Order: sequence, then structure tokens, then C-alpha cells
Amino acid sequence: MHELQKYTVAVIGGGPAGLMAAEVLIAQGVQVDLYDAMPSVGRKFLLAGKGGMNLTHTEAEPAFVARYGARATQLAPMLQDFNPDALRAWVHELGIPTFVGSSGRVFPTDMKAAPLLRAWLKRLRDAGVRFHMRHRWLGWDEAGQLRFRTPEQELHVQPDAIVLALGGGSWARLGSDGKWLAMLEQQGIHSAPLQAANCGFEVTWSAHFRERYAGEPVKPVIAAYTDQQGQQQQRQGEFVISDTGVEGSLIYALSSALREQINASGSATLTLDLAPGKSAERVLEEVSHPRGSRSMASHLQSKVGIAGVKAGLLHEYLTKEEYTQPDKLAAAIKALPLRLQAARPIDEAISSAGGVLFETLDAQLMARSKPGVFCAGEMLDWEAPTGGYLLTACFASGRTAGLGVLAWLRAQA
Ligand SMILES: Cc1cc2nc3c(=O)[nH]c(=O)nc-3n(C[C@H](O)[C@H](O)[C@H](O)COP(=O)(O)OP(=O)(O)OC[C@H]3O[C@@H](n4cnc5c(N)ncnc54)[C@H](O)[C@@H]3O)c2cc1C
Repeated sequence: MHELQKYTVAVIGGGPAGLMAAEVLIAQGVQVDLYDAMPSVGRKFLLAGKGGMNLTHTEAEPAFVARYGARATQLAPMLQDFNPDALRAWVHELGIPTFVGSSGRVFPTDMKAAPLLRAWLKRLRDAGVRFHMRHRWLGWDEAGQLRFRTPEQELHVQPDAIVLALGGGSWARLGSDGKWLAMLEQQGIHSAPLQAANCGFEVTWSAHFRERYAGEPVKPVIAAYTDQQGQQQQRQGEFVISDTGVEGSLIYALSSALREQINASGSATLTLDLAPGKSAERVLEEVSHPRGSRSMASHLQSKVGIAGVKAGLLHEYLTKEEYTQPDKLAAAIKALPLRLQAARPIDEAISSAGGVLFETLDAQLMARSKPGVFCAGEMLDWEAPTGGYLLTACFASGRTAGLGVLAWLRAQA
């Protein structure tokens, strides 16, 4: 265990990925200096706890790994080494109980991130990790040393190995601003551009619709779209009307495909089924039913269950004339086309896609062009939906990078 005591490793970035790398390293007696630009670590982790911290998911492994889409192959060994069961056991070890929600999502029993982070930081400090806050990493100097800007001075240090866990590109005010892309590019560590993931989309609403319905949930609804391979995909759930368009769980779940569609063709169309429980024939029958002196609005409400924001959406997209024609109205209820013009800005997104390319790293996440430099967490080029998949891959890749450093140091000894 003490063979590695002579080595110092710099971990830059104190989110879940960097902290996990620090834990793996300190456990083997390495000296660990953890640097972060912010006054405290784990700010995004704490924010994630505000809406209910979803740590991981209990679905079986093939389905779980498939959530990482095009990067499932690269992430699979890391996710197998630190799988959702191992993650839960690790959280329990920190004294934090967890529970499985009805959808299979795993949460701390109190839904919060702060007690977990507090317990974890205490354990890391007790183990000897040295925390250096307000240390902004600026890259390397000409002698190959790390440069940090601190409130007092510029600091240059020369550790034996480095773990970069600098986060993605969303919520820059919490520390992860993606400025590292250019610094790594100069060193031959290539990245795909950062893009919004798990994000909302822009729709041009009329002023009347926006004022009346922004903030309203649309539920239940089925959203369908045709992917780039020409296959129709659909999903039931709910979303929220925002001032600028649409957001919420159903939209986030489809966001990767919708973003790619917009990248390829300038816009994407979601087709909404506002009456998921009823067939098109049934809706047409109900809408065509004689309504006597009743208004179309109350007829729709009593016969098809459409009112409020759903009725507002029909008014938004149909002319007054179409609204009174049963065939047009029924068709719109079952297939209302919603044109999405752009993803909302990356800073508002829950996570980001893009980042350091796996091809630029070896299987231990060490940069091929810069031996001794490892990358982990959301800064790597993968994306996943919400559901605990983001944090799981951050923890797992942080652990892989930490183990990679240990193996590399042993090989140097
Ligand atoms: C609103 C919201 C809710 C979320 N909820 C969930 C959830 O319930 N479940 C889930 O799985 N995921 C959730 N996520 C995503 C999850 O929080 C992130 O994927 C995760 O925090 C990324 O971890 P990381 O360690 O890679 O990076 P971060 O947590 O972003 O940490 C990166 C660190 O690097 C530091 N840093 C960056 N650049 C520099 C520099 N140049 N010098 C020094 N330090 C630097 C930053 O200050 C920061 O502390 C949520 C995200 C958001 C925004």
C-alpha cells in the first residue's frame, strides 16, 4: 500500500467524478491534491439534489448500459465495474439510506444531496485529501507544470499524474464552463463540441398562448417523431409549456434525437397525441356527435376530456374554421404537429453532450497524447437521459480514471 506514497496526483474538478477519483487514489496511499475553481466543491451535485437527487437506476444491465446510446460500448466496462448495486452500497457505506422509486429510479431516502456530500467530504478529508478551493486551472506552462490562478497568485505545480474532471458545459455559474476544450486541444486531446442535452426546445408561441399557458403541464400526451433513419419513435409522458417553447421530462427523454434532427435539417417536428387513451376513430366519433347549443369547448371537454392547455394548443394551431370542422379537429387532437426550432442554450440544460473523444484516450481514460493525464465525468463525449444515468457514469468513470492512475504509477515505479 505504501509503495505509492511518494507520488502526488492532482485531481482538477471537485464534482462527483473528481471526488471519486480522489477516493480511489487516497485509498492506496497516494498524496492527492484536489483543485477547484469555485469556493466549494460539488455545486452541481448539490443543485441536482434540489429536485430530488436521482443517484442511479435499478433496471437490468443490458437496458441500463443501452441508455448511453452510441457510447455504451466505451462506458460498459466502467459501468460493470461500478454498477448501480455497487453505487448504492457505496452510498449506504456513507451512512445514507436509499430507496427505489416506482419507476426504478434510486434516490437517497431524504431525496437530498447535501448530507451525502457532507459525509463524503469528511471521509476524504479524514483520509488525507488536500482541498484547494478558488484554484482555477489555466493549462500548462512551458515547463509542463500545471498553472492555477488563485486569489493571491499564480501557482505552478508538477504532480506525478493528473485527473481532469472538469464537468460539461451546462450551468456555468456552478463551475463547469467548458473552457478546458481549447486547453486540451492544444495538447492533442481532441473533443467533440459541447451541446445541450436533456434540454428544452424553442417553439414560437403567440403572445396570447404564452401569457395564458407558460408553466402549464401537458399530460398525458404521446409525442412521436420520425428519427433520422426514417423510423417513427413515440413516448407517452408529460411536458411543460415554457415562455420560449417546451421543456420537462418527456421532452428531455427525446432531446438527444430532436437535437440531432435540428442539427441535420434545421428544425424537428413532434407530433402530439392529446388523447392517448382514445383511438382516432373514437375521437372523430365523439367530436362529430351532435352538440346542440353546447360550445365546442365544453363539447370537447365532456366527450374527449380536452380542456385547458390542450384546448389552448388546438386553438394555437387550428384556424377558427378548422376548429369547428370535426374531421380537422379530430385529426389535430390525435396528431398535432409541433415545430421545434432550436435547442435551448446549453447553459440551461441539465447536461451536455460532446466532450473529450474516447478515441483520444486509452481504456483507463489516459490521454494518448499526454501520458499521465486522465479525464473523467461529464467532460467525456457521452450523453444519457435523466434517471440517475448521468451521475452513475460520472462516479464510474471517476473510479476508472483513479484506478488507471494507480496502474500507471505502479508501472513507473
Ligand atoms: C439541475 C440539474 C439537476 C440534475 N439532476 C441530476 C440527477 O438527479 N441525477 C443525475 O444522475 N444527474 C443529475 N444532474 C447531472 C449531474 O449533476 C452532472 O452530470 C454531474 O454533476 C457531472 O459531474 P462531473 O464531476 O463530471 O462534473 P461537475 O459536477 O460539473 O464538476 C466539475 C467541477 O470542475 C470544476 N472546474 C471546471 N473548470 C475548472 C477549472 N478550469 N479549474 C478548476 N476547476 C474547474 C467546477 O468548478 C466543478 O466543481 C443534474 C444536473 C443539473 C444541472
